[in-house]
Amino acid sequence: MNEQALQTLKTYFGYDSFRPGQERMVGAILAGRDALGIMPTGAGKSICYQIPALMLPGITFVVSPLVSLMGDQVRALKAAGARPSYLNSTLTLAQQNTVLKRAEEGWYQIMYVAPERLADPRFLAFAQRAAGEGGIGVPLVAVDEAHCVSQWGQDFRPAYLQIASFIEALPKRPVVAAFTATATERVRRDIVAMLGLEAPEAVVTGFDRANLSWSVEELGDKAKARWITEYVVAHAQESGIIYCATRKAVDALSAELGLALMPHGIGVGRYHAGMAAQARQESQAAFIEDRLPVMVATNAFGMGIDKPNVRYVIHNNVPESIEAYYQEAGRAGRDGDPASCYLLWNGNDFRTRRFLIDRDPEDDELDEEQREQARMNRYRLLRQMEGYCQTTGCLRNYILRYFGEEPAGPCGSCGNCDREFEEVDMTAQAKWMINCVAELRGRYGKAILFGTLQGANRARLRELGAERFKSYGRMKDTPRETLERLLAQLLGDGYLVQSDDQYAVLHIGDIAPLKAGGQVLVKLPPQREPEQARAPKPKRRSPMDALTSAGLELFNQLRQLRFDTAQREGLPPYVVFGDKSLVDMCLRAPRRAEDMLGIYGMGERKFAKYGKQFFAAIEDYRREHPEAEFTDA
Ligand code: ADP
Ligand code: ZN
Repeated sequence: MNEQALQTLKTYFGYDSFRPGQERMVGAILAGRDALGIMPTGAGKSICYQIPALMLPGITFVVSPLVSLMGDQVRALKAAGARPSYLNSTLTLAQQNTVLKRAEEGWYQIMYVAPERLADPRFLAFAQRAAGEGGIGVPLVAVDEAHCVSQWGQDFRPAYLQIASFIEALPKRPVVAAFTATATERVRRDIVAMLGLEAPEAVVTGFDRANLSWSVEELGDKAKARWITEYVVAHAQESGIIYCATRKAVDALSAELGLALMPHGIGVGRYHAGMAAQARQESQAAFIEDRLPVMVATNAFGMGIDKPNVRYVIHNNVPESIEAYYQEAGRAGRDGDPASCYLLWNGNDFRTRRFLIDRDPEDDELDEEQREQARMNRYRLLRQMEGYCQTTGCLRNYILRYFGEEPAGPCGSCGNCDREFEEVDMTAQAKWMINCVAELRGRYGKAILFGTLQGANRARLRELGAERFKSYGRMKDTPRETLERLLAQLLGDGYLVQSDDQYAVLHIGDIAPLKAGGQVLVKLPPQREPEQARAPKPKRRSPMDALTSAGLELFNQLRQLRFDTAQREGLPPYVVFGDKSLVDMCLRAPRRAEDMLGIYGMGERKFAKYGKQFFAAIEDYRREHPEAEFTDA
């Protein structure tokens, strides 16, 4: 690897090595090649374009749809000693003028812009001068969340279509690098075509986040709130996010949690788009600054929240897709230390989701056909989410397969790998279910199928003449949950197939009829009463576990120092130092100031700025506790 790139990584960010995907992306960009990075949230995309931006002369443009992310990234880059900027509508016109002026003077190495900005004549003129003869130079255009360019994705942003013409309008073509966490091949192809990437180096890093553990719990609405309260109390030392599907749910749950947690001295934050901008900002700041450990929020929260020490993410409701889920849950454990992701669900969640899809506000940017297309996509994505809730197989593997990977074997650490399922022979019932689908002539979805099998007395079934079917009422006593599991199994085995549209019509699959002597085994969760669904007690190792008791004491002192420093500078604590850096300081407790440079995440700028102070605190502690041991040797 390019020595200079490694040096830049160390100097600015204090990391000793690139992650594998980063190395290839940085290498390609520095060699002047276009690049396409397909990486999950938390894999470290930003480093891939930041390192070249810091090394190459001129200004790198980063196109990002996430306005809130820009401020965050710029703060972090500044703290690392770089010269970043952003240009978006949160700046006043006067501020925008200043930014453009300083940019013309060649002050910035990197500039974050929203896609709409590219069409602004003033910005375009600036970019053309910069990339032109005698200009400051534009070595790289990086496109974040590149799937927004595709209508097949879930976040189509028409403004992304302008990126290609913007690049074409530059007198000298910069290297173009695109980044996405998207799963589908079709969207990936769209990105290459619509952004006009030229023979890009494609880097697909594994989607597995080994430090995250996955669990799914089916719980009633009341039981969910109880479960969450218990969990939060048991993990009072940790920072966590609880996602709800609607603003109303956020308000209700945060109020309930707030009351329940008050006696334990745990504060609860709240965040959704219906709150006043200032209240929202305060809430977010309190969470980021470790003043409020728990945040209850809609998915409006978290875009660009790069808080590394989020130890758990609980979904109180089902998200719209596996991609959305992976992104939201992926905000846990960015620091690479163990973290937990729980999805709590019940049938209401899916009803709410379908309602949201059907009611989706008219999006003026899309025409009729595009809207219908988008709706179909959403139904398909939601069904895959349903599969995640229903599966009895390894949850990590379900996600990895969704992202196109073929995992080696069960992970052994997710909720399903941990749970003992009962394997039941349901061959006889399977035959009835298949028969029923045949009798329904492949025209109906599972609501009618289950109704028929259970012999429900519904007008709709009478209209169909379902009462005359042989399969009618054959599974009268089988609970809905079991029917769901059996259906999932038959779909998985290929005996049945389901159409891709919103109706999810069921047909007989290619391998039907059930072969003579064939067996259908269905895994059922162990029977339990709802009250028995208890939140798991802490079993995950926390990074602080490695510390001795002296180390832990020192850690708490350094944490306070970090908090004070951050407050003074108006920064989130993690921008000063991550938990991991503090833990490293408390494990090594350096005796010489220059040894602080070897601490994880200690770049030169941070060493110059904070190194002395933190070293002094360690020295003081050593002086006051001459016997203190920092390793269990
Ligand atoms: P993404 O944008 O892909 O979601 P980020 O770029 O925000 O991810 O990086 C996720 C976390 O990983 C950040 O806290 C970042 O500082 C850290 N990180 C990135 N690259 C490295 C590396 N080479 N070594 C150690 N930590 C890294
Ligand atoms: Zn597993």
